[in-house]
Amino acid sequence: MNLAIKDKNIKLPVFFPDATHGVIKGLDTIDINNTFTDGLVVNALHLLIDNKIDHLSQNGGIHNFMGYEGPIISDSGGFQAMSLVRRRNNGKLDDNGVFFKLPTNGQKIILTPESCIEAQYKIGSDIIMCLDDCTDPSESDEEQNTSVKRTIAWAKRCKEKYLELTDGMKEKPLIFGIVQGGNNKLLREKCANDLVKLGFDGYAYGGWPVQNNVFIGEIVEFTSELMPDDKPKYAMGVGKPEDIIVSCKYGYDMFDCVLPTRDARHKRLYRFTNDLPDFNNNNFYEYVHISNAKYINSKEPIEKNCDCHTCKNFSFGYLNHLFRIKEQSVYRLATIHNLRFYSRMMSYLRDQSLFPTI
Ligand SMILES: [Zn+2]
Repeated sequence: MNLAIKDKNIKLPVFFPDATHGVIKGLDTIDINNTFTDGLVVNALHLLIDNKIDHLSQNGGIHNFMGYEGPIISDSGGFQAMSLVRRRNNGKLDDNGVFFKLPTNGQKIILTPESCIEAQYKIGSDIIMCLDDCTDPSESDEEQNTSVKRTIAWAKRCKEKYLELTDGMKEKPLIFGIVQGGNNKLLREKCANDLVKLGFDGYAYGGWPVQNNVFIGEIVEFTSELMPDDKPKYAMGVGKPEDIIVSCKYGYDMFDCVLPTRDARHKRLYRFTNDLPDFNNNNFYEYVHISNAKYINSKEPIEKNCDCHTCKNFSFGYLNHLFRIKEQSVYRLATIHNLRFYSRMMSYLRDQSLFPTI
């Protein structure tokens, strides 16, 4: 499937790493382009901190500000309603929206469906996400029911605000609805059906996709079946390579996660185990812990088939040395390699001649 956004026509499936504050830690925009990364995800709540949105809006929006031409999704802050408010009580949730009291600087931010859409409109992203009441799958059915009711009511208000702001615009951003409901299939069905009635440009799996450290594939697959097949299906927060492969089989074609960039900063690098990966086998890739002493004298690159800046120019031994002396530049080199691993994986997945069953 192709996804048309403004003047861009994007072949799916795609993986977008998280550039929460409008940057991938350690990389500049040229570095990102050179990894052939499919696009980026920024976060409305984080950009509201210290009024960063007003600043970037005055500088022509996120694309101009970053000098980045690829597609950008702005996340709504719904996930932070779970991670900061539901899990850690840094604020409160009610039917009108989310009140955040940020643990970092004590700043108070209120996100209503309307203010959230307005913030994303100011960011100038290509895909706007509805504000949702995100839950953990371990929460009770009563909580999931409240979350679904709120998510539907907020989606209606988000759509109204979006239509008001984009009225008459030639190249409108897209707007996606987010399906909540935890592990409860009836609630997932209710949420998806009501969102489809409201009508969105794409639909996302919402809620934490992992329970007890296990990917909840059954509910992720069930939720995909509730979404229209002629619209993009976005599996939010799904990012482990094997979870992306199985979610592609379930019908999802958009993904985002912090994993490749966070792992790079923690010395965990990814590489394929064969020249052409076998996606029907979970051993198609492996982790390399680059600080391991066995690599001290290695003259090999991280992966011989990788064409990234890091693999083309530097050996394991040198990267190991940089990590041991905590040299800042190694975080950039490691992140570049992991992002290229993901962009190569997605490129293989887009080539249906290689993988007709996916
Ligand atoms: Zn590489």
